[in-house]
Amino acid sequence: MAANIPRVKMATVEPDVRNKNFDVFLKGYTKEEAMEEASRCLGCKVPKCKEGCPIHNNIPEFLAAAKEGDFAKAYELICEKSNLSEICGTVCPHEDQCEGHCVRGVKSEPLAIGSLERFVSQWAREQGLTKIKVKAPTGKKIACIGAGPATLACADVLLSEGHEVVIFEEKEYIGGVLAWGIPSYRLGRDVIEDKVKALKEAGAKFVLGKRVTDVAALAKEYDAVFLGVGATVPSKMGIPGEDLKGVYPASEFLSKINLAPVEEDGRRHFDGCGKRILVVGGGNVAMDAARDAVRLPQAEKVYIVYRRTEAEMPACTEELEHAKEEGIEFMTLRNPVEFKGENGKLTQVVCAVMELGEPDASGRRRPLETEGRITLDVDTAVLALGFNNDREISQNTEGLEADKWGCFIVDDKGRTSIPNVYAGGDAVTGAATVVKAMQAGITAAKSISEQLR
Ligand SMILES: Cc1cc2nc3c(=O)[nH]c(=O)nc-3n(C[C@H](O)[C@H](O)[C@H](O)COP(=O)(O)OP(=O)(O)OC[C@H]3O[C@@H](n4cnc5c(N)ncnc54)[C@H](O)[C@@H]3O)c2cc1C
Repeated sequence: MAANIPRVKMATVEPDVRNKNFDVFLKGYTKEEAMEEASRCLGCKVPKCKEGCPIHNNIPEFLAAAKEGDFAKAYELICEKSNLSEICGTVCPHEDQCEGHCVRGVKSEPLAIGSLERFVSQWAREQGLTKIKVKAPTGKKIACIGAGPATLACADVLLSEGHEVVIFEEKEYIGGVLAWGIPSYRLGRDVIEDKVKALKEAGAKFVLGKRVTDVAALAKEYDAVFLGVGATVPSKMGIPGEDLKGVYPASEFLSKINLAPVEEDGRRHFDGCGKRILVVGGGNVAMDAARDAVRLPQAEKVYIVYRRTEAEMPACTEELEHAKEEGIEFMTLRNPVEFKGENGKLTQVVCAVMELGEPDASGRRRPLETEGRITLDVDTAVLALGFNNDREISQNTEGLEADKWGCFIVDDKGRTSIPNVYAGGDAVTGAATVVKAMQAGITAAKSISEQLR
């Protein structure tokens, strides 16, 4: 094995500075740093990084090009499988994917593949290489429902094939979770805006504020329909006091903050949040909610409560570390059993003290409630417990099949049970990741084009 060369560190903003604003805090590599980091690649005969990438990006050749400073080639290689590399390079859970499989990581730190993808995509944006090249018009018209990453990726391919694309989105903004969920200190809003600009320049039409409830009529009017409606229904705890003022599902809490303008003090504001905030959950959504909360000017104390231990937390290690650095207190082996209030407003949370039992179906040790209780004085609680699928479209559209969780049933080409209706992303898999949504959007777009040809 080659010498144990440490990873090239990326410049970051100090925790006690960044926890007071919403600016991107990972500063990104310089050209020189990117080349140096890429040169740490061992050039494995069997590239595990590629296996670990959900879309099997050609990472070894990408790294070889980046090492030589040939960023145009590196970008081209990434674009073979991805059309949201500027987003995936930033938000993919790399430690579980490519970087988690990097052989360099066995004895030292894995290659910073995500940071390199992010650098190369940023470089490509600066060079104007991210425009969508459009073929001659085919005269075919496709309706996409929802404007999250699944649809953005799908629309990109459809437009490049020369089809007309109309995107119907129930909200007044574009991006789905990228806009309301992933905070701007993790994913700069300029990245999303640039992607939307490229799609619009390629001819995409967005119809905002339009909730689609049935696709039968659209399937007749359009040559094909793509359903990228995500998984947007928040899970509940089902405990007393959940309807008190001050208790929010994570989606509402994050939207209120992430869609608010940045004020003169550099922060986004949300007056509906109090001073002492408790976030329930151990996943990345909980980390985002807590990190948003800590950035509010009124925040005095932010807790994350989780029913298992830190070792079982589904959040990425990096996210968890960032949250801790920013001053969030973790309370593990605790689970809320009651929200208490005065005059209809939350004042306290009673948590059960938990212990771990035998492993459950997920392979993680099952959390068991003991008789122990602790009470915390809080005025805001955020429930980050996961999301479910909305059944409205499948229930209203005759012949459109969904499974028992409300996920649309598709084949490996993204085709639903209605011949010209396709689906992909969280709407099919349940809550998952951006890269998987993108892949599903690309797959569906390719099979739509095949069908229309
Ligand atoms: C807070 C948070 C943080 C996350 N962080 C990460 C991360 O760091 N990395 C990662 O890989 N993944 C992350 N994820 C998961 C990831 O964002 C999702 O898997 C991904 O956005 C799914 O894309 P999608 O296009 O399928 O759905 P969505 O992004 O949910 O988009 C669906 C869109 O459809 C619209 N819509 C829904 N119903 C209708 C309708 N009937 N009519 C019209 N429009 C409709 C919605 O308003 C929305 O805009 C995160 C999720 C959350 C909630």
